[in-house]
Amino acid sequence: MDLYEYQARKLLDEQSIATPKAIFAQNSHEVADAAERIGYPCVIKAQVKIGHRGQAGGVKLAASRDEAILAAEQILPMSIHGHKTSGVLVAEAKNILHEYYVSISLDRTSRDFDVLATANGGTEVESIARERPEAVKRLHISALDDFDLEAATAMAQSIGFYHADVDQAAQVLLKMWRCFKENDATLVEINPLAKIGDPDDESSKSLCALDAKISLDDNAAFRHDGWQRFDDPHQFDPFEERAREHGLHYVHLSGEVGVIGNGAGLVMSSLDAVSGAGEAQRTGVKPANFLDIGGGASAEVMSESLRIVLSDPQVESILINIYGGITSCEQVANGILRALDALGSSKPIIVRFDGNAAAEGLHILRDAGNPGVHVCDTMEQAAQRAAELAATAKEARR
Ligand code: GDP
Ligand code: MN
Repeated sequence: MDLYEYQARKLLDEQSIATPKAIFAQNSHEVADAAERIGYPCVIKAQVKIGHRGQAGGVKLAASRDEAILAAEQILPMSIHGHKTSGVLVAEAKNILHEYYVSISLDRTSRDFDVLATANGGTEVESIARERPEAVKRLHISALDDFDLEAATAMAQSIGFYHADVDQAAQVLLKMWRCFKENDATLVEINPLAKIGDPDDESSKSLCALDAKISLDDNAAFRHDGWQRFDDPHQFDPFEERAREHGLHYVHLSGEVGVIGNGAGLVMSSLDAVSGAGEAQRTGVKPANFLDIGGGASAEVMSESLRIVLSDPQVESILINIYGGITSCEQVANGILRALDALGSSKPIIVRFDGNAAAEGLHILRDAGNPGVHVCDTMEQAAQRAAELAATAKEARR
């Protein structure tokens, strides 16, 4: 899971890494209040889970309340590289003397931790690495060795932190490492790690994290209360939210053919079958979702799944592809009929069963005689039919 900058900053604060004072705001009123509290000049920064915001116009300086409001009105409606802005961070503007870049990330190949750093930060590290590869240092923290102040100091020196900054940089590295470890992160990046202060007053100068990017390891969520504190109610997809409440694996896509199956592999194949079907290619219809009902799914689970997929107004037809293992196709058939009774939906359902009690399941569906339920023998036929029926229904709506 990637964090927003305003969330990542909290984790840095917890390790007492210096960050500018800042307030998260979601409308121009809140921005004006926040700016008054922070003072001027302040920076208004788009909160999106993607970098290069500065270049995209998502980071603006404001010298007054009016400028802050204007910046908010420009930034809040923005999408940056396809990511909708979820709010802005109003941060104290610092006088930057120098910009460093430092990141710690998980290196799956070498099975240790990469520290990537350059004394020429600020711009994107990718472009520095391209243009001046010698300026970017790549060091390692081993999973077994202790990373202590001595090791951090040696690292700060070899990165090329200016003499006066080495001790502070070592502290920052050590704190970043703690932040990485304690939060089960896969990435902790500070860019810029800025040297700030008054150029004429040596004692005013210090290192400050002006931007932070943190990714957390989803596999460790159980150790952190599911990271509920980073839940983002504004960005939740209502369908995905509902599926999650029922323990279903659902991903909302943008097409017209709902897809339900058991087992991630089978559902993926079903998505491919729909995308690749001649009718889909001809008419441009696409899968509307991924929904895996899992193993041993009951009639209730089937019926809840259909309810979720049918509540998506884009859906024109639904492909149900079940390989009965622990799940009995008989149960699935009953679930389908029960859901259709309760929902009274007229959207076509295309069913392909195989495995445990497939014949019995198909028998139940045929006996019910619901004209909206179509039975197919193979996944390819079912996908083709689902695409065709979705395209017809879509055309009829025009
Ligand atoms: P990014 O473009 O998404 O990486 O966003 P950043 O937060 O890193 O901001 C981009 C650039 O804006 C930084 O590299 C700085 O040059 C500038 N910037 C950000 N905060 C401040 C600040 O407090 N003072 C000044 N003068 N510039 C800032
Ligand atoms: Mn940055």
